[in-house]
Amino acid sequence: MTSPQTQQKPLLELSFADLQQWVSEQNQPPYRAKQLHQWLYQKGARSLNDITVFPKKWRENSLDTPIGRSTIHHRSIAPDATRKYLLKLADDSLIETVGIPSKKRLTVCVSSQVGCPMACDFCATGKGGYTRNLKAYEIVDQVLTVQEDFQRRVSNVVFMGMGEPLLNLEEVVKAVKSLNQDVGIGARSLTISTVGLPGKIRQLADYKLQVTFAVSLHASNQKLREQLIPSAKHYTLSQLLDDCREYIEITGRRVSFEYILLAGTNDLPEHAIELAQQLRGFQSHVNLIPYNPIDEADYQRPSDRRIETFQSLLQEHHIAVSVRYSRGLEANAACGQLRTNVEKLTMNN
Ligand code: SAH
Repeated sequence: MTSPQTQQKPLLELSFADLQQWVSEQNQPPYRAKQLHQWLYQKGARSLNDITVFPKKWRENSLDTPIGRSTIHHRSIAPDATRKYLLKLADDSLIETVGIPSKKRLTVCVSSQVGCPMACDFCATGKGGYTRNLKAYEIVDQVLTVQEDFQRRVSNVVFMGMGEPLLNLEEVVKAVKSLNQDVGIGARSLTISTVGLPGKIRQLADYKLQVTFAVSLHASNQKLREQLIPSAKHYTLSQLLDDCREYIEITGRRVSFEYILLAGTNDLPEHAIELAQQLRGFQSHVNLIPYNPIDEADYQRPSDRRIETFQSLLQEHHIAVSVRYSRGLEANAACGQLRTNVEKLTMNN
């Protein structure tokens, strides 16, 4: 008996129990499910035909079984070895994924949506509009693709590519579980980054995941935050910080705050002092991100001296802080720009 429902879904969308059922529907012995799981998640099989331990006849008869893998539409490699990918999904949507290698780690920056509806003023993705949520397997596929391209195991995943993860919470949580259980990446090595949405931080907290949680703050007061992030009008800084306190209580995990430094806008000494006051008593860590210039906005990146001053002021006020320089700038500037630039290129040719 075959059940049409499990047959049409891409194999990467199936739980292990569903894979077992599918294998038995294919009249194969149960141990094939474990092999299939291993080939999908560890060896990066792109079709059943790749799975050389399977009987040839079965492989040939199952060529049209969808797996759920994207294709690399474009790839650029920066001098620092960061690789940026534009991946093409089954419906021809294009999403960005970044692979960031270091000696000890291979970090993947994944997208959670095609585009993003939040329209933050400094963000290239936000300028390009929103198409749809990604399915969990389309998130996992990004990690498998980077793993395959680098021929090296991925150690960390950050949800800092296109999209707002909390607008796609269910699929993001499913992806987190799959990255943890199927791909084998530790929960603490997975980071969910959000601009914050009413009610959503509580929902995420209730899953009690052991992931790292990052909040894009970017401003030390409500007025400034509204200027940069349109959705902040409906969700105040004080509500957001209250929800972060509740998150810490429920999960027992600290929160990371991300703060883009925009010259003359939010990087003055008074902003640093105000930020320190907002975060007093918080179990938190601040990541300062010097702005990556994008064509569609007029902001400037502050000088190194300004960045250092901002950091020192926070330290003087006992705030744990580090500066995160984005890598791979040469590959196509900030996140969101690769798609725009490749689209421009394709249009010009
Ligand atoms: N929507 C989520 C995750 C995607 S953005 C969020 O807002 O957190 C990941 C991080 O990159 C966020 O902190 C975002 O504000 C930051 N970012 C976006 N555009 C940037 C730019 N031009 N320069 C530096 N950081 C940027």
